Amino acid sequence: MQVVISCMDYRLTQEVINKSKKDSLIIRNAGANIFEIKDILKKLNPEEVVYLPHTDCAAMKLTYSVIKNHEGVTQLINDKLISIFKDKNFSSLKELEEINAKVNEDLLKEILPKAKITTELVDVNKIKWPERKARVYVLKSNTKYDEEMIGSYIIQSPELEVILADLEIANKLGLRIEKNEFDTKF
Ligand SMILES: [Zn+2]
Repeated sequence: MQVVISCMDYRLTQEVINKSKKDSLIIRNAGANIFEIKDILKKLNPEEVVYLPHTDCAAMKLTYSVIKNHEGVTQLINDKLISIFKDKNFSSLKELEEINAKVNEDLLKEILPKAKITTELVDVNKIKWPERKARVYVLKSNTKYDEEMIGSYIIQSPELEVILADLEIANKLGLRIEKNEFDTKF
């Protein structure tokens, strides 16, 4: 099985489609965060992982702002995202984005030692951007995208429990939930 992991960012949907196979499982969260989904990945035990973090990432901008400028976030966002980078050395967003790709790739290799792992830090300036819609779709990992979703943010996971921090981040980014396939209130 192939798992494609990327960020929820609205610009990455076509890139995720391009890198996926017909039966790939897709996981997308804030910042392409492996730490948050590591137990699920162990359970899925895929043979192949395509890992797609990206530049100009809102989750990394938030992380930068919390660590360098002491912006406040919820405990959950702190535990699931910010805490990964607290002991890291960086002085620019670009450095933080590179650390994000490296730290998460290392974690992937550690939890899935037999898997073929391909990492690409997607440069958003080299891909075509759809028109941005300030809304988010919360989807299960095997859901295929339709036209409506292009330009929207997409949080995607096999389980709701591991994307709760991402829902809080979506809220912080001012995104409206258009559809939630996990059908729960939050
Ligand atoms: Zn991002």
